[in-house]
Amino acid sequence: MKSDESKCVNCQRCVSLCPTRALKIVKSDCILRENCNWQNDTIREVYKQANSGGVLLSSMGNPKPMPVYWDKMLINASQVTNPPIDPLREPMETKVFLGKKPERIERDKSGNLINNLPAQIELTMPVMFSAMSYGSISYNAHASLARAAEELGIIYNTGEGGLHEDFYKFGKNTIVQVASGRFGVYENYLNAGAAIEIKMGQGAKPGIGGHLPGEKIVGDISRTRMIPEGSDAISPAPHHDIYSIEDLRQLVFSLKEATRYKKPIIVKVAAVHNIAAIASGIARSGADIIAIDGFRGGTGAAPTRIRDNVGIPIELALASVDKRLRDEGIRNNVSLVAGGSIRSAADVVKAIALGADACYIATAALLALGCHLCRTCQSGKCNWGIATQKPELIKRLNPDIGSRRLVNLMTAWKHEIKEIMGGMGINSIEALKGNRLMLRGVGLNEKELEILGISHAGE
Ligand code: SF4
Repeated sequence: MKSDESKCVNCQRCVSLCPTRALKIVKSDCILRENCNWQNDTIREVYKQANSGGVLLSSMGNPKPMPVYWDKMLINASQVTNPPIDPLREPMETKVFLGKKPERIERDKSGNLINNLPAQIELTMPVMFSAMSYGSISYNAHASLARAAEELGIIYNTGEGGLHEDFYKFGKNTIVQVASGRFGVYENYLNAGAAIEIKMGQGAKPGIGGHLPGEKIVGDISRTRMIPEGSDAISPAPHHDIYSIEDLRQLVFSLKEATRYKKPIIVKVAAVHNIAAIASGIARSGADIIAIDGFRGGTGAAPTRIRDNVGIPIELALASVDKRLRDEGIRNNVSLVAGGSIRSAADVVKAIALGADACYIATAALLALGCHLCRTCQSGKCNWGIATQKPELIKRLNPDIGSRRLVNLMTAWKHEIKEIMGGMGINSIEALKGNRLMLRGVGLNEKELEILGISHAGE
């Protein structure tokens, strides 16, 4: 076997699997002469475009050094009065229900609770696996996510690639997605999941569609997407039947009718400048849940310039949407799901304190499956068997091990969420939701604090 260093993508599989721990990767000395303005990547991108004349493609999330507001917010803890709660000895409620809630509790003449709740998603903890389509990730990656979601009592998301027949049995732990390409969408698919998500946008590439090249549309993937083998799967930038909130409302109610009003409808949008006004419209469209995807969210492939320059941070988007919906008195019309760079249990707790009902994770889930963030998903040659359709690579990911690692990760996060909440003297996610008094900012300016709706540390 001969190695070819020019093909190394820094997946670090050789280091991870070396039985004698003999390998280590060091940064090459042969680097370009950088300065503050012209960095290594920037220079290489110019060379690439000068060679190809094409749009640059990248994967995973925005790597630019933009502010990460999660790291500029600190969580409160109880001391002396309002004592902390010991999560090992006292009950802590991490269960959440997503969907429209009534404004008040009503009882009948005999005092029994009137339960007229519309369809809800039930989760044992406020985290779900975000949309990743079959085609952009492998069969074994999907199998790992589906099995883990079932074991954990949470939900995974088909993404826009349809639902493989082997995964219908995980229906109650599945969100089925309807994107602009409508791949694999038919009545049984809509009724197979616990909820339906209309994808209007994605944090890594707001305002543009998707493209899975024809060479990846083979076998099962072509059947699942319901398009011929070898044809490009192109999702248009807009839904061609949606140009207003009224149009969106029509699709929301078409999907509700197709599922006899038994499935909550999620509308997923990218975090963009006027997200609060957009969310206000969605909350009035009849949708039950709004998922907001921040600009650091991952992707299997996106134009580099879009990924790195379009959209806004999820923290600011979430805070402004929650405030707007409260100000307008329609917060209970919808649940909010925040995604796009949730990295830990602390990020989940901060998101919920900012107003989220639950969080979506994707990159963290892929890391649990072995991903080393080499950022070459768009090549289709993922060395960890995740973002690939090559049989010899797919078999590197064992779904038994993959699902076990995902269950471990979520179990650890659940413990940590309980510990952090206990420290605050809070014993349920519901009591934490939108409780911004539990957050303080550090190193943020007045405007940032105002948008986040929190005080500065020390205040
Ligand atoms: S999914 Fe695979 S190709 Fe993509 S960043 Fe992770 S290891 Fe690299």
